[in-house]
Amino acid sequence: MERLQRLVVTIDGSAGTGKSTVAQELAKRLGTECLDTGAMYRAVTVLAVDHGFDPTNGKSLSTAIREIGIRFDWKQKPPTIYLGEENVSQRIRDLEIGNIVSVVAKQPEVREVLVEQQREISKTHPLLVTEGRDQGSVVFPQASVRFFLKADVEERTNRRLKQLQDSGSKADTEEVRKNIETRDHIDSTREDGPLVCPDGAIVIDTSKMTITEVVDAMESEVTALLNC
Ligand code: C5P
Repeated sequence: MERLQRLVVTIDGSAGTGKSTVAQELAKRLGTECLDTGAMYRAVTVLAVDHGFDPTNGKSLSTAIREIGIRFDWKQKPPTIYLGEENVSQRIRDLEIGNIVSVVAKQPEVREVLVEQQREISKTHPLLVTEGRDQGSVVFPQASVRFFLKADVEERTNRRLKQLQDSGSKADTEEVRKNIETRDHIDSTREDGPLVCPDGAIVIDTSKMTITEVVDAMESEVTALLNC
């Protein structure tokens, strides 16, 4: 891996498929950095909610993103995310933000700015595992390896519940399930950068797999492809 000058691995899939966890672990094993693009859409949602912007007004949101700035602190593992000078790494995980993020992410002007920033990030961080909804389909269609993760909605609800509980947030099963289903619907039916399985992507159903099993499977796919 050390001799590689550029390696982009994309991981897409819906909420609760385990993307973030496996992306971080895979990045660690491959010696790359890890980009959580959902965190960027969540940071824009914090901007809308906390700074009083209409979440459906893509134009003013995109102007505000450029003015205030969203950036990662790459020295932290996993990288922390800043909205201007504010570290919003915890705030972005609130259910309040999760309930609105898909509406913000649906706005083409918002996507345009973030897609541009993601491509810029890959220039300064050329060894990258990047995860989201559109990474293999829109942002990096030429990526070295592209994965698409899926899992049952029951399993995804339980995983998100545990994540929220572990971070000390109160969570109701029905509310979490509804949030996942609503986001799936909005994410996969929007016109710009919808959640789709990219053509030629490697599909992994994580429902009955442990994190280690998923990462093992991904690592061997990447290694096999690089050794071709
Ligand atoms: O990955 P995570 O669940 O944190 O993403 C939050 C939301 O951000 C998604 O439901 C989706 O609406 C949006 N998103 C997106 N495109 C990405 C990553 C996330 O639209 N590449």
